[in-house]
Amino acid sequence: MQELDCSILAKLRPATSKNNNRKSIVAQAFNRWFVYGLVGYAKTEQAMSYWLCRCKCGNFGIVAKGKLTSGWSKSCGCLKRETTGDRARSHGMSKTLVYGRWADMLTRVDNPNYKQAHDYSERGITACEGLRKFENFYALLGEPPARYEIDRKDNEGNYSCGSCEECLSKNWPMNVHWVPRKINARNTRKNVYLTYDDKTHCVAEWAERLNLNPLLIAKRKRAGWPDDECLGFKHRASADRYRRKV
Ligand SMILES: [Zn+2]
Ligand SMILES: [Zn+2]
Repeated sequence: MQELDCSILAKLRPATSKNNNRKSIVAQAFNRWFVYGLVGYAKTEQAMSYWLCRCKCGNFGIVAKGKLTSGWSKSCGCLKRETTGDRARSHGMSKTLVYGRWADMLTRVDNPNYKQAHDYSERGITACEGLRKFENFYALLGEPPARYEIDRKDNEGNYSCGSCEECLSKNWPMNVHWVPRKINARNTRKNVYLTYDDKTHCVAEWAERLNLNPLLIAKRKRAGWPDDECLGFKHRASADRYRRKV
């Protein structure tokens, strides 16, 4: 909880018993604020009264009556933090793995400049309202095990939780789960195939056979490396070793 900011007191004339009940707003609620009592009046402006209030979240504040009644001040600031996409700071998880996975998911479906937009936004793949809130995403899926990624069970379906209003109205099932990265790589709609020594496999298959990181193979392929080099057969020696093995 924040400490009460009393700096305003220096600018106030304290309330006296005489004006204590004048146009009292004590015990009234204004949005998240609940008024406890009159603190004083502005020295410069006779009519401007200041009130001790408590926010629903527990923080106290001294707020001008006009700001309360006009709705200019609705909370200690917690409301704004919740509604301006500052969720990352409020839940303190912005640097965690699970938050990164969530943010990646939204990038895939929302960003038309995403490098694989043809697999997501351009196909109409989206994320449901429920999963768009990090708190829901986290509650539903929890922490991913190391090297796991978020995946859609049905690759033609959306990132959907199956239980939010949007999912219920559109009949979207729960369609997300954590999977090890290599499965995810195999699920991607346009599998990338590489050929070496007259054998053609997708990235995930090669990665498994050669015990390589599928993301590394895919990255090399995207960078335009020849297939043999993508698979680490750059040097004659390792290529020979592979031939002997198969
Ligand atoms: Zn608050
Ligand atoms: Zn949903």
